[in-house]
Amino acid sequence: MDLNQPVTQVKGIGEARAEELADLNIYTIEDLLLYFPYRYEDFQVKDLTELKHDEKATVEGKVHSEPSLRYYGRKKSRLTVKVLVGKYLVTAVFFNRAFLKKNFSIGQPVTITGKWDQHRLTITGQHVTFGHQEQDEKIEPVYSVKGDWTVKRVKNVVHQTVHQYVRYIEDILPEEKRQQYKLIERRQAVQWIHVPESHEHLKHARRYFVYEELLLFQLKMQWWRKQEKEKTDGKARAFDQAKLQAFIHSLPFPLTGAQQRVTDEILKDLSSPYRMNRLLQGDVGSGKTIVAAISMYASATAGMQSALMVPTEILAEQHYESLTDLFKEMDIQVELLTSSIKGKQRAEILKRVKEGEVDFLVGTHALIQGEVQFQNLGLVITDEQHRFGVNQRKVLREKGITPDVLFMTATPIPRTLAISAFGDMDVSTIDEMPAGRKPIETYWAKHGMLDRVLAFIQKELENGRQAYVICPLIEESDKMDFQNAVDVHAQLQQYFTDFNVGLMHGRLAVDEKEEMMTRFSKNDVQVLVSTTVVEVGVNVPNATVMVVYDAERFGLAQLHQLRGRVGRGDAQSYCILIADPKSDVGKERMQIMTETNDGFELSQRDLELRGPGDFFGKKQSGLPEFKVADLVHDYRALEFARQDAATMVNSDVFWKEDEYASLRNWLMSQVEHWEELD
Ligand code: ADP
Ligand code: MG
Repeated sequence: MDLNQPVTQVKGIGEARAEELADLNIYTIEDLLLYFPYRYEDFQVKDLTELKHDEKATVEGKVHSEPSLRYYGRKKSRLTVKVLVGKYLVTAVFFNRAFLKKNFSIGQPVTITGKWDQHRLTITGQHVTFGHQEQDEKIEPVYSVKGDWTVKRVKNVVHQTVHQYVRYIEDILPEEKRQQYKLIERRQAVQWIHVPESHEHLKHARRYFVYEELLLFQLKMQWWRKQEKEKTDGKARAFDQAKLQAFIHSLPFPLTGAQQRVTDEILKDLSSPYRMNRLLQGDVGSGKTIVAAISMYASATAGMQSALMVPTEILAEQHYESLTDLFKEMDIQVELLTSSIKGKQRAEILKRVKEGEVDFLVGTHALIQGEVQFQNLGLVITDEQHRFGVNQRKVLREKGITPDVLFMTATPIPRTLAISAFGDMDVSTIDEMPAGRKPIETYWAKHGMLDRVLAFIQKELENGRQAYVICPLIEESDKMDFQNAVDVHAQLQQYFTDFNVGLMHGRLAVDEKEEMMTRFSKNDVQVLVSTTVVEVGVNVPNATVMVVYDAERFGLAQLHQLRGRVGRGDAQSYCILIADPKSDVGKERMQIMTETNDGFELSQRDLELRGPGDFFGKKQSGLPEFKVADLVHDYRALEFARQDAATMVNSDVFWKEDEYASLRNWLMSQVEHWEELD
C-alpha cells in the first residue's frame, strides 16, 4: 500500500477538503498519519494529592450539597457546588454555565476537569460529565489548526485516516535498532501517538519518535559530513614533526591533557587529505589560543599560510602581540591587518601576504573578504564567534581556496545544540583548565550594598590589583534606568582618588580604545569603567575584580564572558554582580552565576532557562525543528542517534543490506536537492 497517495484517496476526503488540508501542509495519506498532536489534554482522573497548584486536572467524586447559583448582571453567573472527592470536600465553580444547575443532585457521581486551586481546594470547571466516566480516551490529543479548521475536525480526519491506514505503515528502523533500544513498531507508535489509551502508550510512542526523528536528522548531517570529507580538495599537510615537538616543549608551560588531546585531533585533520571543518570549544581561559598557535605553526612547517580572525580590533592586536612574542625566536612572520592600518603600510603587508612571505595573518573577520590574497592559504581560524560556518566557507570557496577551517568559541555550547546546529562539523572540546587556577569567587550584591563593593575594590587596588567595572549603557538615557559608563566613571574618579580610573566604550575611536586598553594592561590605569566592549578575549592577568552594574541586563553567557576577564593570573579573583532583579528569570540567573564557574554547566542551565530557540538569539539559531524530540531533554537519545547515524553512513551494511533499505531510500530522497543548500 502506497501511503504517498494524495489525501483524496481517504474515504470522505474530496477535493474541497484536500485543499483545506493543503493549508496545513498535508498532501498525502502519510502526511496525515504523521500530523502529530502538539499536546494532550489529560482527562485521567488523579488522586487529589497528586495534583499541582494551578494545573489543569480532572477529579472524580460525588455531589455533596445543593448547587448555588448567583447572577451578575444579565448574562454572567457563577455556579458553586460542593463535591466529595475521596475524603476531601472540594468546591467546584462554573462560570456562566447556569444551565448545569439542574444536573447536580446530591449523591450523583461527577467528573470535573478544570483549573485546580490547591490552596482553596477549588476546581474551576471547564468540562463536566455526570455519572461514571467511560474508561477510554481519557488523554485527549490536541492538534494545531489554521484557518477554518477546528481541533475537533482535524482530529476526526486524522483519526479516521489512522484507523483506515495505520496497518499499512512499515518499519523504517532496522529490527536490530528497535531491539537494542526497546522501541515499539512504527505502526504502533503512530497509533499511540494519535490515540493513546494510557500514559504508558504515550511514553512508548514518544520514545519511538524521539529516536526516529533524531536518527533521520543525524543521518542527513552525517551523510553531508561524509560528502564534504570525500571531496578530496583538502590537502594532506606534511608538517615537520620534529620542529613541532620542539616548539611545544619550548612553551613556558606544559599543555593540559585536554589541550594535548584537541591538538592531536586538529593535527590529525591537517595531515589527512580531508578538509578540516572543526569546532573547538573551551571555557574562557582554558587556553585555546595556544592550540591555535600550534596548529598555525604546524601549517607553516608544511609551507602553508594561516589566517587568524577575531571579532574586534583590540583582540586582533592582542593576538598579534602574543603570537609575535611566542614566535620571536623562530623563523615565522606574523602580520596584523586591521582597518586602521592604511596606505603604504597596508599595501606592503598585502603584497607580502600575496607573495607568501607572511606566515600568520591576524585580523578581524573582514580578513578573508575584500582585497586580501594569499599565496598559499592552508588554515583559517576564527576566534570567539558565536555563529559561523556556511557563509565563511562560501566566501572562501568563491575565492577559489579550500583551506582547513577551525572555529573557536568560548561560549560553550551545550552538547545537544552543538551536535544539532553544527552536526556537520567535528567538535573538539577543552574541558580542563590549566593547573593552579583559583576559581573566581562570585557574589551577588544588591544596589544598596554599593558602599561595601567600592570599599572592597579599594582594598584590592591597594594590594596592587586592577578592576573592571561594567555598565550596560554608555550615557544616561531617558528610556532606560540603568547605570551608564560616563556617570559611573565620573563617580569613581571622585571615589578612588589615589588611582587612575579609565573609561572605555564602543563610541570611542578605535585608537582611543586601543590606547585605553594599552594603559590598562600596563597598569597605568587601575580601574577600567567600560561597556561590554571588553567582553571578549581581552587578557590582563593583573585584574582581579570584575564588577557588573545592573547585571540582570545581561544574559548568562555574557556574564560568564565578562567574569572570564579576571582569574587569568595566579591571584584570587572576584566577580561582583550588582542587581535587584524583578523577574524570576533574573534572580535565577544571578543564582546560577554564584553557583557555578563551569561554562558548560552554565550554558546547559541557560538552555533550560531560555529554551533552544533563544540560545543563539532569535534569527540565527539555525536549529532544526522537531515534532517530538526536545533538544533540552532528549540529549541522550541525540547522542545515540548521532553515533548510530555516523556508523551507518560509513558502513557497507547500511548501503547494501535490505534491513536498511527504508532508511537508505529515505536518505536518498532527502539529499537529492542538497547541493543547493550550502
Ligand atoms: P581562552 O581559551 O579564553 O582563549 P587563552 O588562550 O587566552 O584562553 O589562555 C588564557 C591564559 O592561560 C593565557 O594567559 C595563557 O598563556 C594561559 N595558558 C594557556 N594554556 C596554559 C597551560 N597549559 N598552562 C598554564 N597556563 C596556560
Ligand atoms: Mg581566547
